[in-house]
Amino acid sequence: MPDIALLGLILVAIVIGYFLGGREQKRRLMGSSGQLSKDYFVGLNYLINEQTDEAIDVFIKALDINNDTVDTYLALGSLFSKRGEVEKSIRVHQDLLARPSLTSTQSFQVQLALAFNYSSAGLLDRAECILIDLSRQNHELKDQALQQLLKVYEQEREWAKAADVAERLRRTQGEYFAEILAHYYCEQCQIALDQNDRVAARRFIRLAFSRDKNSVRASLLLGQMEFDEGAYKEAIKVLQRILVQDISFMPLSLPLLEKSFEHVGSMRGFGAYLGRCLNERPGTAIIIAMTRLLLRESGESQAVNFLTAQLERRPTLRGLNELIDLRRQFQGDLPDNVLALIQRLMDRMLELKPVFSCGRCGFSGKKMHWQCPRCHCWGTVTPIQGFEGE
Ligand SMILES: [Zn+2]
Repeated sequence: MPDIALLGLILVAIVIGYFLGGREQKRRLMGSSGQLSKDYFVGLNYLINEQTDEAIDVFIKALDINNDTVDTYLALGSLFSKRGEVEKSIRVHQDLLARPSLTSTQSFQVQLALAFNYSSAGLLDRAECILIDLSRQNHELKDQALQQLLKVYEQEREWAKAADVAERLRRTQGEYFAEILAHYYCEQCQIALDQNDRVAARRFIRLAFSRDKNSVRASLLLGQMEFDEGAYKEAIKVLQRILVQDISFMPLSLPLLEKSFEHVGSMRGFGAYLGRCLNERPGTAIIIAMTRLLLRESGESQAVNFLTAQLERRPTLRGLNELIDLRRQFQGDLPDNVLALIQRLMDRMLELKPVFSCGRCGFSGKKMHWQCPRCHCWGTVTPIQGFEGE
């Protein structure tokens, strides 16, 4: 058992001790001499000797679980759970549940904790059972049960059930769940497509957009569907929407968009769209697509000039790789301006890279420290080795 975890357990034991000492149970659980009960020390002793099973037994026997101590037991259960000792955590929670004195909120909390145990142990059916039961109760913690149930369904990839639960959460928690819902409907759309059920697929796309009109994923799926059905103009329309939905995902749409424009015979249209994208947010994917289009439509020197000018403004590794490729393909040796570009790019990369790192905590920086500023160990910070280092 790791030291820190053991320390945590002992801490919990001390908290239990505090409860024992400070509350009404004092009389019952402390000897007449005013000292803590013998059982408590026996349990503590087991803990220190890492006999945690025995310790749990003794503690549970020693304490009458009442409203004051349930929280402490929940803390103990969660500690076991965090350490990956799920079986022990389950035992604590099951024992708690067997007590008739729990309030309805406490019983709800314990069942939530138990369901969490079951799902981390991979017993998803059992977790689902408890959580469905909890989510039917009209309790103030109901949404917590629903959120856990959602995680269970995600693990099981039960997207229809997940969508039902998320629809319920959306009613109380709002739009955060709307975006997630769009993903659940897209997952179902993908499954429908795999089964060649295009009617269902379209229905799920509509649902996805009804929840999140800016769903890039739904646009990509719909674009692909239109393309597969030969509706290239529709595909272009759908895919171009991504530019306003979320421009950072735009590169994902470029290959299909290029093919669609090719099918309608309008490479000029593709060029115009790329130009628009380049204005809004220049990025390597757009620059490379534009370069290839220029190479195809206007010849190599136009393509090389365009790419060089773009890279001088904002050098990127992929862009430079493309330029070297083009140069070697058509014009032989690399001229001085390309070499200068390579050097600038490397300088910038080296500037951004840390030079030293701590082998103990992972701290990294550009300055040498004999004592690590994060973990305060001496002599653990060394020059970084390998491809980007020494
Ligand atoms: Zn360190």
